[in-house]
Amino acid sequence: MTTPDPAAQLLQAAQKMAQLGLNKGTSGNASLRLADGLLITPSGIPAEQLTAQSMVFMDWQGVAEAGKKPSSEWRFHRDILQARSDMHAVVHCHSMFATTIACMGRDVPPFHYMIATAGGDNIRCAPYALFGTQALSEVAVTALQDRLACLLVHHGMIALGRNLAQALAIAVEVENLCEQYWRLLQFGEPTLLTAAQMREVQAQFRGYGQWAQSESQFGEQGQRGESE
Ligand code: 13P
Ligand code: ZN
Repeated sequence: MTTPDPAAQLLQAAQKMAQLGLNKGTSGNASLRLADGLLITPSGIPAEQLTAQSMVFMDWQGVAEAGKKPSSEWRFHRDILQARSDMHAVVHCHSMFATTIACMGRDVPPFHYMIATAGGDNIRCAPYALFGTQALSEVAVTALQDRLACLLVHHGMIALGRNLAQALAIAVEVENLCEQYWRLLQFGEPTLLTAAQMREVQAQFRGYGQWAQSESQFGEQGQRGESE
C-alpha cells in the first residue's frame, strides 16, 4: 500500500470532517506538518469544492505559496505545530455539540473516563479571541497545553494528532463527549471522576487496544511527561 501524498491526505481529512457532519459549509480547517513548514486547507472553500491542488504550503514564518490564500486560522495551526513537536496534524471544527458546550464557556470535566483520550482530566475551553487572529492562536496554544483537544468559546474546537487520522479520531471523540455532557446538563451537574480515578484511567489506557503505548489510537495518553 502506498501512503497518499500530504495534499491527498489533507483533502481526505477535510472531506471526512464534512461527511461526519463535524463541519458544514466553509467552517473548519486542517493542517499537516511538512519538513520545512505546513500544508493547510485554503480559506473559505467548502469541502465538496476542494481538490488536492487547493491545499496551501506555508513556511514557519507564515509565508504562503504565491497565488493561494491559506485558512484564516493559519496562525493557530502554525503555532500549535511549532509548540507541539510530538504532534503533526491539527483539525478545527464547529461541530454541533462541542460548539454548544464551547458557547457556554465551559471546560468539559471528567464526567466520563473517555475524557482521558483528550490527554488529561478535562477539555479546556479557551477564552474569547476574534477568529483568524494571533490572540486566538495564543489562547488556543495555552488551552492545549498537555492536551490533545480544546474548545474555543463562542467558536468551536481544535484537536491534534500524530497524524490526521488520530486528530480526526480525537475530534470525533470530543464531539461525542460534548453531546453526552450536553445531555447530562439537562438534568443538572453530573457527578465526576476523581483525580485518582482519572490517573487509574490513564494507566489503564496504556495497555488498551491493539496499539502499543507509543502509537495508541488516540495518540499520546495522559499528561505529557507522565506517559513517557
Ligand atoms: P477558513 O475557511 O479561513 O479556514 O475559516 C473557517 C473557520 O473555521 C474560521 O475559524
Ligand atoms: Zn472556526
